[in-house]
Amino acid sequence: MHKKLFIPGPTEVRREVLEAQAKWMIGHRMNEFSELFYSVTEKVKKALGTKNHVFIFTSSATGVMEGTLRNVVEKKFLSTICGAFSERWYKIGLANGKEGDVIEVEWGKAIKPDMIEEKLKTGKYEAVLVTYNETSTGVMNPLKEIGEMMKNYPDVLLLVDAVSAMMGAPIKPEEWGIDVVFASVQKAFALPPGLTVTVVSEKAIEKAKKVKNRGYYFDFLGMLKKYEEKHQTPATPAVSLLYAMDYQMDRILEEGVEARYKRHAVMAEFTRKWALKHGFEMFPEKGYESPTVSTIKNTKGFSVKDLNKELAKRGYAISNGYGKLKEQTFRIGHMGDVTLFELKELLWHIEEIWNLK
Ligand SMILES: *Cc1c(COP(=O)(O)O)cnc(C)c1O
Repeated sequence: MHKKLFIPGPTEVRREVLEAQAKWMIGHRMNEFSELFYSVTEKVKKALGTKNHVFIFTSSATGVMEGTLRNVVEKKFLSTICGAFSERWYKIGLANGKEGDVIEVEWGKAIKPDMIEEKLKTGKYEAVLVTYNETSTGVMNPLKEIGEMMKNYPDVLLLVDAVSAMMGAPIKPEEWGIDVVFASVQKAFALPPGLTVTVVSEKAIEKAKKVKNRGYYFDFLGMLKKYEEKHQTPATPAVSLLYAMDYQMDRILEEGVEARYKRHAVMAEFTRKWALKHGFEMFPEKGYESPTVSTIKNTKGFSVKDLNKELAKRGYAISNGYGKLKEQTFRIGHMGDVTLFELKELLWHIEEIWNLK
């Protein structure tokens, strides 16, 4: 049975978007492919209002987390850890032989610009890593403010994991001074998994030119060269997914990104009010709650596992808490193409199953 996904990725994909994949195959060295790839790339630039380079890798975001560090960090980076995904990025850095220092806050808390600035004053770092929306805790970090602060440190690159945020919350690469920002498409883009959009500044490209051992598959310079020559990719891309993405970008542009961000903000606010009304509490620090995923404290000690079993029978799925937060919290993903109406239906079922007053 189809379960409507209210998990923080992969998210619900509309049937017509799924069906857009089912077209005859083309060769990735044919003109038809160049046209398709150019079309998708330009639509992403339009949606993000950016003139920076846009690369679309056939990989989930974890590949690009690794690739980003390989491309633009020679040696020393600063990680900001506030949950499982920011911690993963730090570990990836170490696994690639880079040296990382860490700013770490308790899960549920946000990373603030002054925490980063204190470390930047040492002058030790080539780059700062920020996870815009920490999907494990439901915290959105103040990226715009971090970017503003970092304008005083023009030699340090700002690298951003925007996986569960891009297309669900504002991101302004140039205005906010972001050098690399990426997101896989199975979250707020509402596409099947397999592609990762990566937006790269000229400054990051210049840095990459000086970095040795950038690797091959995720080499930004290799990707740039092939794109500039022929609007192609160095290796075989996921053509079917690109068909779906071309179609989905039209849908996103038709809705309008500002309206899309608003829809997410409204769904998040509705979920928070619903949680408080029924005697729950929000897990994230106040004022930093994510617009795409609500992490709610399971203050009543219900079984989240059993809830999901019952929801499954009714055609829905939500998420348990992540890792150590399992059963202590539950997460409702409201990102991508889901509507407030659909969210209300889900919440009604939860009320009924848990007999909430
Ligand atoms: C899902 C997620 C990832 C991992 O992305 P994959 O596409 O599964 O590799 C990384 N960071 C954040 C914030 C995420 O939400």
